[in-house]
Amino acid sequence: MGHHRIVFLGPPGSGKGTAAMELSAALQVPHVSTGEMFREAIRRGGPLAETAKGFIDKGQLVPDEITVQIVRLWLDERGRERGFIFDGFPRTLAQAEAFERLLAERNLPLTAVLLLDVSEEEILERILGRLSCEKCGALYHVTRVRPKLEGVCDKCGGKLIKRADDTEETVRERLRWYEQLTMDVVRYYERQGLLTRVDGNGIKDHAVEKVMVLFGLVSRRARAS
Ligand code: AMP
Repeated sequence: MGHHRIVFLGPPGSGKGTAAMELSAALQVPHVSTGEMFREAIRRGGPLAETAKGFIDKGQLVPDEITVQIVRLWLDERGRERGFIFDGFPRTLAQAEAFERLLAERNLPLTAVLLLDVSEEEILERILGRLSCEKCGALYHVTRVRPKLEGVCDKCGGKLIKRADDTEETVRERLRWYEQLTMDVVRYYERQGLLTRVDGNGIKDHAVEKVMVLFGLVSRRARAS
């Protein structure tokens, strides 16, 4: 079977991170989150990190050149291995076009683009309660997906933290950016006939299951029950 090279689109808080991670585990292809790459770079420090942090803390997008640069580095280091699932990239038409060129030069065409559709009210509810593990990145929610022990990751024992950019103000700002810019990316892939929409409203696990079904897979939770 050929490699899966997938782009996962959806508004911040749509559950695309969770769905992308599940899909990545099931298909055994790396999950690549540019947001996570930036947070990692910020933890390590350095000049690029400082610039990126300024934008991220305000809920704004990091400039395209910086973003495309870290994606190019990733592709050259690991792009050939087993395919990929990009989560949170591309977010602008310029990024999508630059990505297209990077992939064409390396003969790594995309195999699918998924869009997780979720309403704004649902997104606010989800993001404002969101917690993530400092160590492994696993996601929780203060009321909906509680860890067994408060403040502690079920999976690795790491500390659960609220992301600094998960405030109502930055969430609204991020949604505005999404509406303005990422919708162009959606239309771009739609024109290429690569886009598949998944209704992500309602229970998160259901969206994950719909995504799994698209790839002929069964989700972890469905297998367990
Ligand atoms: P995320 O974890 O995907 O929600 O990303 C967190 C933040 O990182 C975003 O609000 C942006 O500031 C920045 N970021 C992540 N991916 C991109 C991208 N593709 N283009 C520009 N900024 C990005």
